[in-house]
Amino acid sequence: MTMDDQAAAALFGNSFAIEEVPSRTFPDDGMSATDAMRLVAEDLAIEGDPGRNLATFVTTWMEPQAQRVIADNLHRNFIDHAEYPRTAEIEQRCIRMLADLFHAPGETTGARTQGSSEAIMLGALSLKWKWKERQQAAGRPIDRPNLVFGADVHVVWDKFCRYFDVEPRIVPLQPGKYTIGPEDVEPHLDENTIGVAAVLGTTFTGHKDDIVGINDLLLTIKSTRGLDIPMHVDGASGGFVWPFLYPHSEWDFRLEQVRSINVSGHKFGLVYPGIGWLVFRETADLAKDLVFEENYLGKTDATFTLNFSTGSSMVLAQYYNFVRYGRAGYGYIMRNMQKNAQVLAERLRDLGRFDLIGADQEQLPLVAFQLSGDNAFDEFDLAWQLSAERGWMVPAYTLPPDAQDVTIMRALVKQTLSREHVDTLARDIADACQTLDRKGGAHESERAQMVTGPGH
Ligand SMILES: *Cc1c(COP(=O)(O)O)cnc(C)c1O
Repeated sequence: MTMDDQAAAALFGNSFAIEEVPSRTFPDDGMSATDAMRLVAEDLAIEGDPGRNLATFVTTWMEPQAQRVIADNLHRNFIDHAEYPRTAEIEQRCIRMLADLFHAPGETTGARTQGSSEAIMLGALSLKWKWKERQQAAGRPIDRPNLVFGADVHVVWDKFCRYFDVEPRIVPLQPGKYTIGPEDVEPHLDENTIGVAAVLGTTFTGHKDDIVGINDLLLTIKSTRGLDIPMHVDGASGGFVWPFLYPHSEWDFRLEQVRSINVSGHKFGLVYPGIGWLVFRETADLAKDLVFEENYLGKTDATFTLNFSTGSSMVLAQYYNFVRYGRAGYGYIMRNMQKNAQVLAERLRDLGRFDLIGADQEQLPLVAFQLSGDNAFDEFDLAWQLSAERGWMVPAYTLPPDAQDVTIMRALVKQTLSREHVDTLARDIADACQTLDRKGGAHESERAQMVTGPGH
């Protein structure tokens, strides 16, 4: 007896393997759960391997116990505070712990967000509303708000300005100077400035703006011109790095004009995406008008978010990490990353073909580098070759204006990049350079497919 195809498919499954995948129209018929699961997995099997993605700042590994917490709570809608008051309490504990880590002077407030982008939108909205309050109290107009930041910020800051109608005053970078300081900011400040945004750990090179210097400038302006201009620190990456690697370097609420800070839980907070945090210096720094009260879910509740329903898992996973690691554990993990980053930097220096960017300064655990001397190929070619030969995703990108003629590469050194990986990566980079020496750069068609942009 021979089976017909339909009977065979019913028995053995996997009929999707010889059919085109549903992609344009809503499928008429379904498939078995196992087939659907395999279809999705097969689709993903040929994309990048997160373990070799050195472009991203985002967490690609968590402990099995943390994964259990995540899996066990996927059915718990975070926003249902009335039904899930313990989840809401755990969010508040995380905010209090972060406020403590960032040296908030007293009791304060904040929010769990989807990531730093949402946290920045909310923090910047609060800057705008607080500015309106100041202007109205002084009888001044509220139609031309501006926000001052460097070209070293993440794209979310431009997005905020466009979405919420604020004039961006962007300080350009310069070749060789990839962060900003008080002298850059000063000419842009006036009574319509809602705030200054400074970065702790830039996306481009992992350095920090001169936050101390900008704070000093803002204090001087406050005492001489009576303008109280707040600063928001974008600590998306740096907020979980500086407290542990550079505890004496001041960038947080120890500085008087720093009124709010965002940090991505899913970057060096070591949680899978998406979780971010916004923390205010004092409760009064959150504009009251932005907090909405509703009672749909059975109890009057205050919300300050751009989203509504969302999962609880990552909040709980963040709390898991805080209690699991504490300061000692985060410190240990950050120092390990830093050590491996230093070894990678040394290996690259030893190759004699690269210049390191700011490796002697306070920096995120990463290596930013560029080719030195004359080469038959450029950083974009190398990024492509490395990915083609060994699957490493190490991006090449140009810096923002006015440093747009500078091309760099950057490798994040996260928990998943072991010392063995570091040694292998350095050898693979050397091999890729040799391949390119021989063939003289990647071909146009190859370059078109490569990893570009600083990641996120
Ligand atoms: C990653 C990043 C962001 C955006 O954060 P998400 O958590 O991805 O939304 C903003 N600013 C900086 C400096 C970043 O590195």
